[in-house]
Amino acid sequence: HAAKRTQAGVKVYDDSLDDRSRASLGLLSELRQAVEHHELRLYLQPKLNLRSQRVEGAEALVRWQHPVRGLVPPGLFIPFAEQTGFIRELSRWMLIESLRFAVQARAQGEVLRISVNLSTRDLLDADLPGKIQAWLAAEGGDPSLLCLEITESAIMDDPARALATAKDLAQQGFKLSIDDFGTGYSSLAYLKQLPVRELKIDQSFVFGMEADEGDREIVRSTINLAHNLKKSVVAEGIETQGALDLLAAMGCDEAQGYFIAKPMPADQFLAWARARAQG
Ligand code: C2E
Ligand code: MG
Ligand code: MG
Ligand code: MG
Repeated sequence: HAAKRTQAGVKVYDDSLDDRSRASLGLLSELRQAVEHHELRLYLQPKLNLRSQRVEGAEALVRWQHPVRGLVPPGLFIPFAEQTGFIRELSRWMLIESLRFAVQARAQGEVLRISVNLSTRDLLDADLPGKIQAWLAAEGGDPSLLCLEITESAIMDDPARALATAKDLAQQGFKLSIDDFGTGYSSLAYLKQLPVRELKIDQSFVFGMEADEGDREIVRSTINLAHNLKKSVVAEGIETQGALDLLAAMGCDEAQGYFIAKPMPADQFLAWARARAQG
């Protein structure tokens, strides 16, 4: 049974159209089963507050523990999930799991805000704010437990509808963040209208910032832009002490990257955070 499922998933890149659509259907049913069979995993990557030096949040990143293929990274199935609409199911799973985690952590005295990635389809779903409220109520949480990451490209797909959903979410108290900032095609005019409270500098600028003056100035300008607009700013992709020091010196609020920690299974997160706090 598992072998058949794997075959369908692997065949997604065949070039004959018939094979390809058959394979897509296979992958879609595999993904559906992944939820039913509890094969999705919540991974968390810490976000370090550079002023307090404390971990005050984490980004939720999905993994697929496939029975045959092992741990599958999101890059291999998120685009497909977006094309087929399955992403809504996945977002629902991630939001509920993230909320459960945050509620449990708070019960243990750790106040954390979990950042969840939303896709274009989520932003075009006018019912999303109401659904999130219902999940919050069911889990006994409140909006301060979540940050919702949206990308510029998701916004630009249908700016009017995305803006309406974003405003609705912000009004309900959810923190919104623009992910991969600087890599999309959104204009500063939209940025001004969007009720986002955080900009997330894309890792492509952060990787090179020690060696490349251009990258460094883009990072510095983005930090200043965010602060001038009264938003906080987080940098992702910190892989070295040098990058971390530069960002702190530039006044960046938060940092996320392999140098601090790689994404880890959610059930390891609290132990990691406590060990770190104890130095
Ligand atoms: P993203 O939201 O920009 O997430 C950051 C990605 O960069 C993650 O990859 C993370 O593991 C990686 N990363 C973080 N720090 C470093 C670093 O220092 N060095 C390097 N080389 N990489 C670093 P991941 O987990 O493979 O996720 C890739 C993308 O897949 C995410 O990019 C996001 O766009 C998407 N994604 C992941 N989980 C979800 C989800 O639950 N829903 C949706 N819609 N998209 C998701
Ligand atoms: Mg993200
Ligand atoms: Mg990002
Ligand atoms: Mg990125």
